[in-house]
Amino acid sequence: MTHRCVIYDLHSHTQVSDGILTPTALVHRAHEMGVDVLAITDHDTTSGLEEAEQAIIEQQLPLQLIAGVEISTQWLGFEIHIVGLNVVPDSMLLCSLLTRQRQQRTIRAEAMADNLAKHNIPNVLTGVRQLAGDATLTRGHFARYLVEIGIASSPSQVFKKFLSKGKPGYVASNWCTIDEAVEVVQGAGGQAVLAHPARYGLSAKWLRRLLIDFKQAGGDAVEVAQCQQAPNERSQLAKYAQEYQLLASLGSDFHYPCPWLELGRDLWLPENVTPIWATWAR
Ligand code: AMP
Ligand code: MN
Ligand code: MN
Ligand code: MN
Repeated sequence: MTHRCVIYDLHSHTQVSDGILTPTALVHRAHEMGVDVLAITDHDTTSGLEEAEQAIIEQQLPLQLIAGVEISTQWLGFEIHIVGLNVVPDSMLLCSLLTRQRQQRTIRAEAMADNLAKHNIPNVLTGVRQLAGDATLTRGHFARYLVEIGIASSPSQVFKKFLSKGKPGYVASNWCTIDEAVEVVQGAGGQAVLAHPARYGLSAKWLRRLLIDFKQAGGDAVEVAQCQQAPNERSQLAKYAQEYQLLASLGSDFHYPCPWLELGRDLWLPENVTPIWATWAR
């Protein structure tokens, strides 16, 4: 019998937040890409999990689904994302936190649209809602819509010009704290993972401060591997995981099919870390 490594992808999005694929399409794609264990981690919602699990059962896909969520938090003026893995989706505390977070998202979306209207881009919320359907609204939807109406050529251009901190469409949101997110994730039976630590634009000194605070909050793991990383990023993050005694996680943060990023692609952990799944019961 041939042997191959189990492929884990523990960070991905569907249509219920700012992903493009339905939960059904996502699990099919994950299987096609050779993923064995997939976590769906939509922004501040777990509502895609049920459909994904159904699809796996109906199609008898050899894919293990991990119930996840990605929670936005505020930390010293930065927006830090905490991924929860293996949560019980209908845990009361988790549900009520996520409901509050989604209310904040609605309030922020309205304020963002008002700001953009003042910059001569009217009726953005109507357009965004049309594009997003029932999804939990994120800046990703705003970016996509503004590209659609020709305001910029790509989502990243929209972020640069309008949606990043200090730009006309940016509105700070009243997210929960890291402590709250960790507590609620763990209260729901899950593990709390510091998402994409290299993507917050923090200096080494500030990143250490974040890791210390996350550890202090009782955080379990840090994302060490993603498909697209600067050359030394993975080994540096692995060192931090070791130093702060955090488990290591990994994930594509897949949102939609594109050439530069794929489910399960290039996801492996350096030898010197403990994978988060080493703590999972078999
Ligand atoms: P939010 O949680 O509403 O603040 O939106 C954050 C989401 O916007 C991220 O999860 C990404 O999907 C998307 N995003 C953030 N920065 C960028 C960027 N520079 N280019 C494209 N999409 C981005
Ligand atoms: Mn997103
Ligand atoms: Mn994120
Ligand atoms: Mn994400």
